[in-house]
Amino acid sequence: MDEPLVERMRAYGETVFAEMSRLAAETGAINLGQGFPDTDGPRPLIEAAAGRIRDGVNQYPPGPGRPELRTAVAADRAERFGLEYDPAGEVYITVGATAGIAASVLATVEPGDEVVLFEPMYDSYAAVVSLAGGVRRPVPLRPGPDGRFTFDPAELRAAVGPRTRMVVVNSPHNPTGTVLTRAELEEIAAVCREHDLIALTDEVYEHLLFDGAEHVPLAALPGMRERTIAVSSVGKTFSVTAWKTGWVMGPAPLVRAVQTVNQFLTFSANGALQLAVAEAITGEREWVRGQRDALQAKRDRLSEGLDRAGFGVLRPQGTYFVMADVRPLGFEDGLELARALPHSAGVACVPAQVLYDRVEEGRHLVRFAFCKRDEVLDDAAGRLVRAFAS
Ligand SMILES: *Cc1c(COP(=O)(O)O)cnc(C)c1O
Repeated sequence: MDEPLVERMRAYGETVFAEMSRLAAETGAINLGQGFPDTDGPRPLIEAAAGRIRDGVNQYPPGPGRPELRTAVAADRAERFGLEYDPAGEVYITVGATAGIAASVLATVEPGDEVVLFEPMYDSYAAVVSLAGGVRRPVPLRPGPDGRFTFDPAELRAAVGPRTRMVVVNSPHNPTGTVLTRAELEEIAAVCREHDLIALTDEVYEHLLFDGAEHVPLAALPGMRERTIAVSSVGKTFSVTAWKTGWVMGPAPLVRAVQTVNQFLTFSANGALQLAVAEAITGEREWVRGQRDALQAKRDRLSEGLDRAGFGVLRPQGTYFVMADVRPLGFEDGLELARALPHSAGVACVPAQVLYDRVEEGRHLVRFAFCKRDEVLDDAAGRLVRAFAS
């Protein structure tokens, strides 16, 4: 048979995340590549889900999601940000943020439409824009002298043209850890309003904020609620990345568009998990705060180890990733270092360059995940120090 994969997806082979996890397994390296916690989420959340399954919540929930969860999500948004969404037509439950993002792009981007994205970018964005037949217009995030990544508003404006349909905004940002400020978001909002663009916001790290950083939803800015599809999910917030329970929030016409596509992708998401999450959104706030504080300490712990090993550490304000520059170690290419590291040091990371359209922008950067137990982070740091600094 000829190549069975459609032409527009041929650039997407095995992801480097899978390659690095496989390398870690083969070499017995500590895997700080793929980002998933090595401890469980809050016990009551897990017990509630198990109880719901035992109690027989095992058939299709409504396509848009269980009303209990849609109501809880809307109430939480209203309370924290003053953003009002009608649970009946403006909140829609998806199989993780991934499905919400995919359905949003497939529902609104015509073949040939352009989508502006900040790079480095979460890997699913590039693939789903290709799947829709859209064209990516990347805007680089670069670290300033303080190590914080941000964009140049002139480069954002230069990326927008007559075919631009959408801007994708991920804050807190994976992999750089940047939490966009209100002023930065206002630059993006102004461009969206002037060019009548749809904003797709990925807010899955909305609770993982350090040093008092504040999460501002783009939809909260003037003129933005009516044009924004906001996506979030439970995986990062509650350390349950396997649960794949997320949501899309927006004005009814946009949410209807997403629903039209998503009903044929997954139709609905796991109902028992939805009921458990509906309670945890308010019931586990204290746990989420504790988790955030623990992650801030883990950031410091791993950053200090990377620094001692000789990496150029670019300190994140949120998420559970830290970016590191490999050039101080005498390397030019993060991919080369990431492929060697499991063998030479017994630690796996991911090369950030695979998250860029313009590879040169991120050639020298690698990403480490710090959502791991302290002893694992200390072990990894010790291995890196021994490999490079002694
Ligand atoms: C993990 C992650 C997702 C995927 O979320 P799910 O709810 O697991 O589908 C989406 N966006 C970013 C930036 C992520 O890091």
